[in-house]
Amino acid sequence: MQLKQDFFEQLPEFYSQVFPLAISNPHWLAWSQDAADLIAIETPSEALLQGLSGNAKIPDASYYAQVYSGHQFGGYSPQLGDGRSIIVGEAIGPQGAWDVALKGGGPTPYSRHGDGRAVMRSAVREFLISEALHQLHVPTTRALAVIGSDLPVWRETQETAAITVRLAKSHIRFGHFEFFCHSERGAPDKLKQLLNFTIKQHYPQLTCDAAGYKAWFTQVVADTAKMIAHWQAIGFAHGVMNTDNMSILGDSFDFGPFAFLDTFKEDFICNHSDPEGRYAFSQQPGIGLWNLQRLAQALAPIIASDDLIAALNQYQVELVQHYLYLMRAKLGITDVREDSALDETDLELIGGFTTLMERNQLDYTNTLRRFGQLDPDSKHSSLRDDFIDLNGFDTWFTRYQARVGKVLDVAQWQLERNKINPKYILRNYLAQEAIIAVEEGNLAPLHQLQQVLQNPFAEQPEFDEFANRPPDWGQGLIMSCSS
Ligand code: AMP
Ligand code: MG
Ligand code: MG
Repeated sequence: MQLKQDFFEQLPEFYSQVFPLAISNPHWLAWSQDAADLIAIETPSEALLQGLSGNAKIPDASYYAQVYSGHQFGGYSPQLGDGRSIIVGEAIGPQGAWDVALKGGGPTPYSRHGDGRAVMRSAVREFLISEALHQLHVPTTRALAVIGSDLPVWRETQETAAITVRLAKSHIRFGHFEFFCHSERGAPDKLKQLLNFTIKQHYPQLTCDAAGYKAWFTQVVADTAKMIAHWQAIGFAHGVMNTDNMSILGDSFDFGPFAFLDTFKEDFICNHSDPEGRYAFSQQPGIGLWNLQRLAQALAPIIASDDLIAALNQYQVELVQHYLYLMRAKLGITDVREDSALDETDLELIGGFTTLMERNQLDYTNTLRRFGQLDPDSKHSSLRDDFIDLNGFDTWFTRYQARVGKVLDVAQWQLERNKINPKYILRNYLAQEAIIAVEEGNLAPLHQLQQVLQNPFAEQPEFDEFANRPPDWGQGLIMSCSS
């Protein structure tokens, strides 16, 4: 692993140096070669295991925890920071550099009352979802590995500690800018320093002046909108969209009690600590804007408010446009007219289908997968039989047929749908089964699940059961934040 230290060297006031604490009996629980290739690592070597577990010094590593703040569940927390994540530097890969972070590496000056550790179940979940979302073409941070240990940690019961080795193009969050917008922390100088660093590292086409700042914020708004459009289209609920969990690059980030929808439910809440549903599935687009508004407020000392407002005004357009693009592809609406980027009629048609799914208690992923296998020219399909409300389906399908028109090559149409509507997603019950097996010392189910999710669009008939709806115990699993 070849490391550089741009953040560490150029932004000395934006972190605290801190070393990971050794753990007993570190061992690989999971490894993603796909992620390893990003930073030109060929194998999970013993030396790497010792380094990433905090048991040996990694050559050229600088160990640090970043400082930031953030809005958590609507309220401002003035001082957060990496409480259990230690960054070792930026690993150089064939297509660019990736921050390498040891999530669960030990306490830091920002740990507050926490122990700086992550429990195995949450480390495994973060690993699986990072790699699964990537394969589903959703912008996301990545995960290289999970390292297990014998170290006991105490949550509701005793569990064991593990480390997720996270790769991120950047760990800079909305919350970084919120932290440094306060004058006692040196705003606007510090804000500018952070923004210029961000632009130079990640937006080399932009200049560090008023025009560049405006273009940059416009891009952040667009990237965030696009990420959330992906979540809505794939049926993913993040669960904790606090501004400290929002990556400035618009990558899905910092996974806790996330869930994919099983049965479609517009107002699905996946986070046990969110009884009000602030971060319910249907709220995500609105919360994305709210979070961007907090970011804009933080940037107000250095970016003209007209520029910030103009960019924010583009959010909804960007989100709807991208959502429509993704959903049309899923439903096989291929003739998109030039003027129809924000076509209300298509939005209504799509919404009509998800409403039908909800009323008929159908599985979001499987219904779309089956939809892509029907003959759009025929009124009868096995999918139709899944609906209790046949009249509702027929009415909708007639509208759909009128919109789609005659499909010339049905086989080709179906083939295209299968490349867009996944068969396999990381259902919570699947993650749970893999985690229980790991607790029992059996890694095979975890590795099998990882392998299946590596090709979510392929049929993989030998693994059909991984596409099943959850059993009774696994329906609507709600995760807690304590991880
Ligand atoms: P999260 O909900 O994972 O985004 O965490 C919110 C904040 O709490 C972040 O600043 C984390 O670094 C911190 N945190 C979460 N768990 C721990 C822990 N076990 N030890 C120390 N800090 C933690
Ligand atoms: Mg976080
Ligand atoms: Mg976290």
